[in-house]
Formats: sequence, C-alpha cells, structure tokens
Amino acid sequence: MNIMPWHAELVETISDLEKRDALPHAVMLSGGEGLGVDVLAHTLARALLCESPASGYPCGQCKACHLMEAGSHNDFMSLELEEDAKQIKISQVRSLVDFVSESSMRGGHKVAVINPVEDLNIAGSNALLKTLEEPAGDTIIFLVAQRQEAVLATIRSRCQILNIQPPSHEDALSWLMQSLPAADSDVVHSCLSISNGEPVTAMRFIEQDAWGQQKTMIEGLGAAVKRKKTVSDLAESWADDYLQDRLVWLIQWIEQMIRFSSTEDESVFLNADSVAMLKYLAGKAGFSVLFELREAHLVQLRLLMGSTNPNPQLLCESLIILWQDLMRSSR
Ligand SMILES: [Zn+2]
Repeated sequence: MNIMPWHAELVETISDLEKRDALPHAVMLSGGEGLGVDVLAHTLARALLCESPASGYPCGQCKACHLMEAGSHNDFMSLELEEDAKQIKISQVRSLVDFVSESSMRGGHKVAVINPVEDLNIAGSNALLKTLEEPAGDTIIFLVAQRQEAVLATIRSRCQILNIQPPSHEDALSWLMQSLPAADSDVVHSCLSISNGEPVTAMRFIEQDAWGQQKTMIEGLGAAVKRKKTVSDLAESWADDYLQDRLVWLIQWIEQMIRFSSTEDESVFLNADSVAMLKYLAGKAGFSVLFELREAHLVQLRLLMGSTNPNPQLLCESLIILWQDLMRSSR
C-alpha cells in the first residue's frame, strides 16, 4: 500500500467518525489530481471493510483485505470510467443504486467509491441523488472530486465535503525521494516545481521524463516562432498522450511571462531552458496580448478535458500560430 503522509489527518478523521458511529453516508473527497485523492478513497474503503484496521489504515492481512486486494469483496463497489468512455454511464449508476439497496454480505459496512464524480453526466447525477439522500443501511459512498466546482450543486449539497490539502514543499520532496530512490534530486526538485506542489503529479512527471520533454518543447516552440520549423511538424510532435500536460505547461509559461512583465524578475521562469525565449517574447508582447494568449490556451484545455474530442493536431496548430503572432505584436 502506498502511504501518502498528507492523507493521514483525513484517515484519522474518518476512523474517529466510524468509532463514534457518526460516519456520514456520502463523503466528497476534494483535491487536485496530483494529491492522490483516488488512492485515499480506496484506502478509506479498505479500512472501513478491514477486520482489524490500525490507526485508521487497513491491516492488509485479514480476509476482507485479501478480498479487496483480489477485487472480489462483495460489499465494495467502484464506479470509474470504462475504457474509452468520457462519462460514467447511467447503467453503472443504476448498479450502484442496486448495490446500496442490498444488505451487507459480510455483516459490516458497505462501501462505494465514485471516481471521479465530475465524470457523471446529468442523468447519472440525477439517478444518484435519492441514494445519496437516503442510503439504505450501513453504506458509505466516497465521491472523488478533482474539480469540485464542476460537480452539480445538488450532488455537493448532499455530501459531507472533506478537502485534501497539499503537503509542504519539504514533505512532498521527502515523499518523492523515498518513493523514487533512484531519481536524480535535481529532476525531483524541477518536476515538483512544475506540479503545483502536488506530489503524485510530480511523480508522474519524473517517471515520464517531463523535464526532458519540456526542453524539447521549448526548442521546438523557439524554432517555430523563428519560422525554422513548420507549425504542422511541431503540432504533430505535441499531439500525443501528453497533450494535456503540454497545454498546462504552455499556460504556466504564459503566466510566467505575465509575471515577468510586471516584475522583471527572471526567477519567475521555472525552467532555465525557457528563460531566453520567454523573456524575449514577453518583451515583444504587452499584457493584454499575453492575457488573450492565456485565455486562448485555457479554452483549448477545457475543450480537451470535456467530452467533445477536439482534433489534437488542429488544436496544437491553432495555439502555435498564436505564439508565432507574438513576434509580430508590439506594445
Ligand atoms: Zn484487514
């Protein structure tokens, strides 16, 4: 089991509530993608079903823990996106409603995890409302919310909301170094710096060599801006599995340019390879152009995260052209 120290307080809270027989029926666990909120939900589910939990964590040894490990505990249900689906289907919600109405097979709690709850569509959300309001028997539903504001108010209002706070920079670093002992410490620092302080994202970045990818991206963008690389060639190299990360990085770079424009402080640029280009472009463009550029990227990011399946190549091309246009803008 992967213990994430920044979850400990909430694990204890749930354990205390259980001991006092005061557990709410629906708990929304809210926090950024990189805080391991899904891991927390499953840890809590295991602990509630475990026969002898220790300090709120599952023992990993008992019959219930073994059944959970094997994915065959009858008093547990997990609702997640099915492969290639963009939304949690209403048929999945209906099976959850059935699960909640049955009595416990092993005589203890029944636990369900919905991950993430913002992937429920309107019909699915509505089908869930009654269950959240009047769950039968001893059922606890954990709803994982990475973007709480995207969850319907009618769902939110029926849950007890627990917010997961990111760890301190030092705690995040020490967790990363412990989890990835072979990783280069400079790379760990760098990846954490571009992860919004969220350690699970930093870990993913370290594993996928995000720092190296950023370097390649900066070189490519620099070449495209100087018209030494075609827009379509660069777009093709970006339109891969990491496209969403790339958009987030582009937005971070634009925000750094905006900050630099007002402070003239080079330390706002987190990636040393990016300084020369971003500084130069920030000098060419004014605030309003940079804010427009940021907004254009946010629009594309929202499209990408939504259910419309935008064409990745065209999406990248439209943004790269905007970066090229910075060369033409003048304050
Ligand atoms: Zn156990």
